[in-house]
Amino acid sequence: MAEFPEEVVKKAFGAADFRCECLLVEHGHGYNSMCMRVLDWNKRGQSFKAPDGEKGWDAHFIVSPENGGKTTQENCEILCWDCYCKKNKK
Ligand SMILES: [Zn+2]
Ligand SMILES: [Zn+2]
Repeated sequence: MAEFPEEVVKKAFGAADFRCECLLVEHGHGYNSMCMRVLDWNKRGQSFKAPDGEKGWDAHFIVSPENGGKTTQENCEILCWDCYCKKNKK
């Protein structure tokens, strides 16, 4: 499976202001339907789980590689783990 280069993820992470970029109304984020959860760069990864139960985040393909999505910053969405899981379930 395609992966974003670390450099791309770093740029996207900075552009996202270190926050979850999810805008899906159906996630029930509340204000402006934005998640805005503050994320920690060091907590990237699908299996990450802190002892206090805090979850990590990961880079999500806006257009999936199977559909021709590229590993560019434009196609990279920073999502907290909750939103990442919800989106990938679809
Ligand atoms: Zn989120
Ligand atoms: Zn969400």
